[in-house]
Amino acid sequence: SATIIDGKAFAAGLRTRIATQVATFREQAGRAPGLAVVLVGEDPASSVYVRSKGKATREAGMESIEHRLPVDTDQATLLALVEQLNADPTVDGILVQLPLPGQIDAQAVIQAIDPDKDVDGFHPVNAGRLATGSEGFVPCTPLGCLMLLKSIHPSLSGMDAVVVGRSNIVGKPMAQLLLGESCTVTVAHSRTRNLAEVVGRADIVVAAVGVPGLVKGEWIKPGASVIDVGINRTETGLVGDVEYDTAAQRAGAITPVPGGVGPMTIAVLLRNTLVSAGRREGVAIDQTAL
Ligand code: NAD
Repeated sequence: SATIIDGKAFAAGLRTRIATQVATFREQAGRAPGLAVVLVGEDPASSVYVRSKGKATREAGMESIEHRLPVDTDQATLLALVEQLNADPTVDGILVQLPLPGQIDAQAVIQAIDPDKDVDGFHPVNAGRLATGSEGFVPCTPLGCLMLLKSIHPSLSGMDAVVVGRSNIVGKPMAQLLLGESCTVTVAHSRTRNLAEVVGRADIVVAAVGVPGLVKGEWIKPGASVIDVGINRTETGLVGDVEYDTAAQRAGAITPVPGGVGPMTIAVLLRNTLVSAGRREGVAIDQTAL
């Protein structure tokens, strides 16, 4: 049966390696890397994420700058805050927690962030950099998925990969990353015909849909690596987009939910912030050691 990919342990190791390089950065730059997180409103899930991000940032030895704005904040006020953070030399990363309340145009806010502080990698400039293979910031969840895959297969070259889901946050950047690793990439989505057959061809399956158990275990090609990004709250607890028990009998390696991809996202956010700080201060960060 499958190797269970322990994302929780991988993320803990990554955070330790980040903290080591943060300490070196602080000595050389005379300040800590700074991550600004902006939360508008009090959405319970978003509040939990923002709290976890702040805690992890401080634990890595970085500065967490948190801005909590009321739910009725207008667009101009939020844009003014983003401008202030863009101009602040002690801020290396800016993250505006999504979703934003309805009166705010999320795309306009994302586009207002300095691309060189966009540690979430959502700015169109960073999407373009990823698509063209130039240096920028890659969205945290798909980059975390790639790190987990490479812990199983150091080279992904020539493998058949299927990404189920085409969101700007997960599916599309995941497909770009796999293409960058020389996989043959298929992107499946809600209009895909015969998903079973498409998934069944893949050596690598990344599911990022948000439908519990959508990907059936019996579809998985024997020995394939399965990365389950889905986080779905059900009566029986948190489950992924992949039917775990049956998939684990066929896969070569699989991420559990919870404890797989989930813990990687914040660890990669810290990584991106450290890399940003290094670029901005001219301090060398050893990305191969992260
Ligand atoms: P989204 O809703 O933006 O996109 C879902 C995608 O799934 C769409 O592109 C859609 O075409 C596709 N889809 C929907 N129904 C389908 C079907 N029946 N067959 C095939 N494709 C279908 O979602 P998202 O933001 O990409 O998130 C996807 C999942 O990943 C969610 O469960 C979310 O909670 C989870 N997620 C986890 C993390 C993390 O682990 N840190 C981060 C982001 C998202």
